[in-house]
Amino acid sequence: MAEIRLQNVGKRWGSFVGVDNFDLTIADKEFLVLLGPSGCGKTTTMRMIAGLEEATEGDILIDGQRVNDMEPKDRDVAMVFQSYALYPNMNVYENIRFPLKVRGIDPKTHDEKVRRASAMVELDDFLHRKPAELSGGQRQRVALARAIVREPNVFLMDEPLSNLDAKLRVSTRAQIKNLSHELAVTTIYVTHDQIEAMTLADRVVVMKKGVVQQVGSPTEIYDSPANTFVASFIGNPAMNLMDGQVQGGTFRAKNVEISGLNAPDGPLTLGFRAEDASIAAPGEGQINAPIYTMELLGDATMISVRVGGALVSVKADKTFRAEIGQTVSIAVPQGICHLFDGQTGARIG
Ligand code: ATP
Repeated sequence: MAEIRLQNVGKRWGSFVGVDNFDLTIADKEFLVLLGPSGCGKTTTMRMIAGLEEATEGDILIDGQRVNDMEPKDRDVAMVFQSYALYPNMNVYENIRFPLKVRGIDPKTHDEKVRRASAMVELDDFLHRKPAELSGGQRQRVALARAIVREPNVFLMDEPLSNLDAKLRVSTRAQIKNLSHELAVTTIYVTHDQIEAMTLADRVVVMKKGVVQQVGSPTEIYDSPANTFVASFIGNPAMNLMDGQVQGGTFRAKNVEISGLNAPDGPLTLGFRAEDASIAAPGEGQINAPIYTMELLGDATMISVRVGGALVSVKADKTFRAEIGQTVSIAVPQGICHLFDGQTGARIG
């Protein structure tokens, strides 16, 4: 049982604010992902929970107990880092066993615990090998097993997949998802990869410059991004965003006219997802512009046009073909549009 409560937690170094007013309760057994670009404060937040970094503001509670002044070793959290930090002179078995020795766990239980943890990450056949004799993915699994073996109340994972190649990332990601389900331990996972966040999380926290932008389920942040930053960070490709003006419910920008919107007159940022729009008959769509790029994706053809300074994409049928420079018409019905305040970027509809 481990509920983590962060109450207005902040981290300052002099006048620099690394994390500002982080306020969230993470439920027991929840898989929470901290997502955001480099430097947004994800690692710092996690290090404060682990006790490796002191919170300069606010309270951190684990199961109702304030842990701000508690040593990292007393917090019952296990961390997995992007650099696996294995002991090169110990074999896999000894590496996994190490935390049990350090914590003074009864030696009679070690063998069973090590074997159970290594089986969970499918390392049973590699126990005698040294880290140098393993692939990157296998090393990362040793690091995972070393965290599992302690049977902690909380897992903290800091970009554990970032040193793996693309294919291995996908399979190890699936393994982490499966493990978290099996172990049912509260997990906080840091990444800048939105696909990892979407696939792993119960809830995602999107951060920017130390400030939480949105907290929600993957579906919530995908379907209803709170602002243009979240909209542009989630999804592949990211949401199309166009700056223009609204008058009488009609949005206009160069080559664009979309009517029937419930938005006040004035500047507006209008967003839509590439997969929600479609190619229309010539002149029938709301965007009419020359094709800038065309990418064959196998299951679809991605067509991009320029609207003002922005590139706007639409996912067309896989058989769609046209010439670059040829004018294309894109259907953007008002029902697929996301509306953001033209000045602040906050969602208004
Ligand atoms: P990344 O994805 O690159 O790891 P992050 O979101 O995890 O980024 P943090 O490592 O939490 O970011 O850093 C947040 C901000 O705090 C960054 O701007 C960083 O430069 C700054 N920072 C981190 N540690 C210190 C420190 N010891 N002193 C001053 N500033 C720091």
